[in-house]
Amino acid sequence: MALLTQNSELKPHRIWNWTIPAWHTRLEDGSIFKTCPQAGICAKLCYARNGTYLFRNVKAAHDRNLRMVLDNPDLWETQMKQELQLPKFNRIIGPRQLPYPVEYDDLGEWMRGWVVSGLPAIRIHDAGDFFADWYLERWMNIADANPHLLFYAYTKEVSLFRRYEGRLPPNFRYLFSTGGLEDHLIGDDRHAEVFPTREALDEAGYMSQDANDLLAIMLPTSRIGITANNISHFKKKMAGRTFGDMTKEKRKGRQA
Ligand code: SF4
Repeated sequence: MALLTQNSELKPHRIWNWTIPAWHTRLEDGSIFKTCPQAGICAKLCYARNGTYLFRNVKAAHDRNLRMVLDNPDLWETQMKQELQLPKFNRIIGPRQLPYPVEYDDLGEWMRGWVVSGLPAIRIHDAGDFFADWYLERWMNIADANPHLLFYAYTKEVSLFRRYEGRLPPNFRYLFSTGGLEDHLIGDDRHAEVFPTREALDEAGYMSQDANDLLAIMLPTSRIGITANNISHFKKKMAGRTFGDMTKEKRKGRQA
């Protein structure tokens, strides 16, 4: 069974996905395992805890992925590396069309080479996060073994990534995303903020990644904007606020 999958949004951009359950799941021994240890208000507004993600077969596939990682990390890493040997991950098809408004000259050396090759990208985690140092290190090994592929991730694990600054391979990119317990540790870093509307995103001076998920790591700004999914009960909870706003309000409430 394939470890990496594609959905209709990512397919046109040659992006493959790896995913584990969102927020937490129950393991076979009955214990709860947190897959997103630094999730905050995002857990209540999580797209991956809604709709098709709740289908029994989808949930089972995500649980299976997590179990593989936890039960035998060596075997999982080996299988992931083997899957990435398949021709579909190694076909050089020529230059990618750069998503507007990214310019070739704005990209660093590694990214320019990758764009010219047209090789795929691997998005680590459609749902879930880097729940432990060793798990991040496994992904670093996988990226190291595939220096021609781009690996990227959104993460709320700010302090974890701080500890690994300068040690990630050049083909492993990440950005922080708001709505987590460590939002207050995000400084000038590249980060994604979730806005209730596109107008609010533009007004705040963020650049949207809506047209192509790769914009999140390619745009020449550290302020990446995401427009909230059109899920009515989530929009109601957001009540015109960003994930960052909601997190700040919650922190203030706790401190008061
Ligand atoms: S970190 Fe991401 S996947 Fe996890 S609960 Fe938050 S929004 Fe969902």
